[in-house]
Order: sequence, then C-alpha cells, then structure tokens
Amino acid sequence: MIRKTTMSDKLLFGTGGTPHSSKSESTAHGIERIAELGLGCMEVEFVYGANMNQTMAQKVGATAKGLNVKLSAHGPYYINLNAHEEEKLIASKKRLLQTARIASTIGAQGIVFHPAFYLKDPPEDVYDRVKKELEDTIRAIREEDIQVTLRAETTGKGSQFGSLDEVLRLSAEVDGVAPCIDFAHLHARGGKANSYAEFKSILKQITDKLGSKALNDMHIHLSGIKYSGKGELSHLNLSESDMNYIDLFKAWKEFDIKGLVICESPSLEADALIMQKAYNSL
Ligand SMILES: [Zn+2]
Repeated sequence: MIRKTTMSDKLLFGTGGTPHSSKSESTAHGIERIAELGLGCMEVEFVYGANMNQTMAQKVGATAKGLNVKLSAHGPYYINLNAHEEEKLIASKKRLLQTARIASTIGAQGIVFHPAFYLKDPPEDVYDRVKKELEDTIRAIREEDIQVTLRAETTGKGSQFGSLDEVLRLSAEVDGVAPCIDFAHLHARGGKANSYAEFKSILKQITDKLGSKALNDMHIHLSGIKYSGKGELSHLNLSESDMNYIDLFKAWKEFDIKGLVICESPSLEADALIMQKAYNSL
C-alpha cells in the first residue's frame, strides 16, 4: 500500500480551528492567519459535520499547500462506534467516511475522532466492537483510494472510550489507525499525568507499543483544562490552568518527537504561540 508521506520533520504548532484574529471565520482565512503568525499547522473542525463542498475544499487545500501550512481534520462529535442502534452505527461510519473524503481533498494528514461511548457496556466488549467497526470503516475509506490516517483521540472522561491503553492498542492492532494524544485530557482523567516523570512514561508507552517510528509522526492536542473527579469539565487557557506544559515540552525534547501540536485553549493562537515559543526556547 502506498502511504502519503506528508510527515513533518519537526514539531509544528497550530490551532484547533480558525484563529480568532483571522480576517473571517473561513478556513482559508484561518490558514492565511496561521502563516502570518509564524505557526505551522491548523486542524480544520468538522465537529458538527463535514459539509465543506468540493470547490471550497480544493481552495483550502491549495491555500495550505501554497503557504506550507500542514492541515489535520477533526471529525464530527456525533460518532459512536459502540452505538446500540444499527442506524446510529451506520450514521457514525458514514460520518467518518465523509470526513475522510473532504480531509483527503484538503490534504489533511489525519482525522481526529472520538471513537465511542461505553454506554455501561464492559470496556473489553466495547474495545472489540470499536475495533471491528473501525476495520470496516477503513476498508470503505481505502476502497475510495483515500489514504488518510484515523487518529483515535485520548478522551477526557471516564465514560468515554479512549484511555491511553485503548488508543494505543487500537493503533497497534488496526492498520490505518494512529493515536491523537490529548495531554490535557489524559491529565483530566484523574488529575495525574502532569509531571515530567509521567509525561516520559506516556511517551515510553507509545514507543513500547507502536515503535519509535510513532514518535516521528505524533498528533497532539494541548490546552489548559478544568476537571473534576469525573474528568474533563472545560478547556482553559494555559495561564488559568495547572497544566505543567514546560515539563511536558522537556519530555518531548528528550524523546525528540515530531508531528503536529494542536492548541485547543479558548485563546487558540495566543496559547499556540506561547507553546511554540516555550518549546523552541528549551
Ligand atoms: Zn477531540
């Protein structure tokens, strides 16, 4: 199988969605603003559905290519590969396929998605189901000759499928799946995962389960985060949060990771620039 090699040779920083200071909310203006700010990437948000038309998608792809801004896509929230009703399951898979078509046109390297909810089912059963439905979805995507990677995200709540273990196991066992490591979510799932030693342990687990090549093709989400015993409550700006991003960046440097870092703080580009500056100054 030929895989598009669009990997970055370093770590690029950008925003989840169009920066606030863009000329308009349009994706193309967002990409232009990313380039003006000296950031390197942007995640195009299809969280309420992948409805961009073909002409627009081609324009977005050309803009990104021309300005050398790397793109990723975030799939719809309404996806549950553990849905009990057949129609909801079919709709979830269709949403992933539709996102893959547009992601491919805009030249996005990967599609981030939240795989499933447990719905009180045993996690092991949910894993098996998600794996089977994902294999099926990827088969349909590849039948259209689309080579985009599906990035299963580590989720911020215990009720949502997407622990670090589950995401790494899916990535190891399903061809075409790779992790989206949301460090804020990992921290929110119990208040841990916020020290240098814990960050190194996460990167070590990635290496152990997916090989060191995974470190050259990372997809990361980061922001400040507000959480309770049940996990994520809301995203915060870094300065308003306890997110220990300096030690996180030290761990990234030590493991020499490459790929995309998408800032999901409410302030978007302001925090993305803070992250990029802090990382580069280490
Ligand atoms: Zn997400």
